[in-house]
Amino acid sequence: MKQVGLTYKERIRNERRYFPSVLKALAENRHRIIELAKDNDPRLVKEIAEQKLNKDKLRGTVEKLWMDIGTASAGKIEEMIRRAKGKSVKIMYGMKKTNGREQLWNSRMQHYVRERTAWKIERMMSTQLEMINRVIDDTIQQTIDEGLGVLESRKKLVQNLMSDEFVVIERWQAKRIVQTEVGQAQNTGSWIAAQENAEGVRKEWLTSGDERVRESHVHFGNLGPKEMNYYYANNLLYPCDPNGEAEEIINCRCVILYDVD
Ligand SMILES: [Zn+2]
Repeated sequence: MKQVGLTYKERIRNERRYFPSVLKALAENRHRIIELAKDNDPRLVKEIAEQKLNKDKLRGTVEKLWMDIGTASAGKIEEMIRRAKGKSVKIMYGMKKTNGREQLWNSRMQHYVRERTAWKIERMMSTQLEMINRVIDDTIQQTIDEGLGVLESRKKLVQNLMSDEFVVIERWQAKRIVQTEVGQAQNTGSWIAAQENAEGVRKEWLTSGDERVRESHVHFGNLGPKEMNYYYANNLLYPCDPNGEAEEIINCRCVILYDVD
């Protein structure tokens, strides 16, 4: 029996790669609001902030993340499983980089991306809007408390939107998005390739092994090898399964391993 799979380290690498572009998409949106705040009253800014947020950049980044990481993870897992089974990898992959398998993984990943990205982006955008609105509300309150004039209140809002405190919160949001999306894309890519090569393969849930792991996931990690179609008690087929409930997935750092006979 051999055990194969993509590690949590691999996830960290992928997260590092995508963090800058997610953060940039969020920051660009904030800067749109800052531009608006320079010439407009905080109250008006609040009214039109939502229309000013641009979803396209974040959506493009998340889609690219899924396609890149999902496709690459599927390719790696198929190769690992075939090697573990003592099967040739070359016949399947040939010498060319672009090949039939890559197209297969691509179309599988596209299926996930098409179905889910739109509402996911909506949710991310509304979280960002909530954060921005909170700053606007605080500024309006500040304006009243300190009896600030029109120009001062505009300046205050610009300052507050550029504050270190807000930048830190923005980085946290970017981190959460990247962690969640990379986990799902990597584990899903891994999973679809394993399903294509499922004969003689069993799965195993692997946690990151520290005290931040959810109690239920610690339990799944202790279950040992399971048949591929086994549902874990939270209705997930594998860690970060996009069909699972958000509370089982968000910030989950678990990965999936395969035992190959
Ligand atoms: Zn977990």
